[in-house]
Amino acid sequence: MIRTRFAPSPNGPLHLGHAYAAMVAHDLARSRGGEFLLRIEDIDGERSRAEFVETFFRDLEWLGLAWDGETGFQSRRLADYAEAGERLKAMSLLYPCRCTRAEIAAAAAAMGPDGPVYPGTCRHREVNPEGAAWRLDVARALELTGPLEWTDERAGPQRAAPGIFGDVVLLRKDLPASYHLAATLDDATDGITLVTRGMDLFPASHVHRLLQALLGLPVPVWHHHPLLVEPDGRKLAKRRGAPSLGDRRKAGEDGQAIVEALREGRFPAGISLSEGLHQAS
Ligand code: GLU
Repeated sequence: MIRTRFAPSPNGPLHLGHAYAAMVAHDLARSRGGEFLLRIEDIDGERSRAEFVETFFRDLEWLGLAWDGETGFQSRRLADYAEAGERLKAMSLLYPCRCTRAEIAAAAAAMGPDGPVYPGTCRHREVNPEGAAWRLDVARALELTGPLEWTDERAGPQRAAPGIFGDVVLLRKDLPASYHLAATLDDATDGITLVTRGMDLFPASHVHRLLQALLGLPVPVWHHHPLLVEPDGRKLAKRRGAPSLGDRRKAGEDGQAIVEALREGRFPAGISLSEGLHQAS
């Protein structure tokens, strides 16, 4: 049986791009007799706000996108993430790093999907681990796993290339986790068989495939869907004026009609779907 998920971060209200992502994950599950789960990615303590979570529930109900089972909250799973981090440390695959963003930007020789690629400054340095972030030694990890493959059901078979990010942070300095570690562990814990999310996160799947191999986790299939973009090709974003679903709900709009329009590929003026891989805003 297939199981998909929608995994919003409660650092702002949902907008039409989120409705599209939730609809895709919901419909893929329903059309194949599977399950659709909701996960709240709320480990970003500074930016996550509980009030958004309440709104997410109401928005999804209003859209007519019913989810199955208990809603997962990343903030309740920190012990699992820390345990996986300890396992990776015991495998000598993590190293502490105290470099600032500015130092990385100054030293980087290349740009990656998330900005300047960390050039490995601390990989072979003695660094005080107290309060440091922990990075994955990607080359060493790949030596251990050998070449890895994964499949996106739209883009086809992929050879894992986690090196495009450089040595990613797996344990942040303020948190025993990072997006990559938490999302990968959660998808395994939740039994997600079809990881459904936007094309902007396509590159992240290279890293997640490596983490699955290192931690002995099941390997799902991925479905990266196109993104709703503005005329300039950038992702919809609340901060650039995309109206929130909550505002539209309160204004008395019909949520199910909005989803029906998205299903049929009818978008508001100026908004279209883009296949672009790097629509990071
Ligand atoms: N929490 C992420 C977001 O809101 C999605 C992560 C994922 O689907 O893996 O963009």
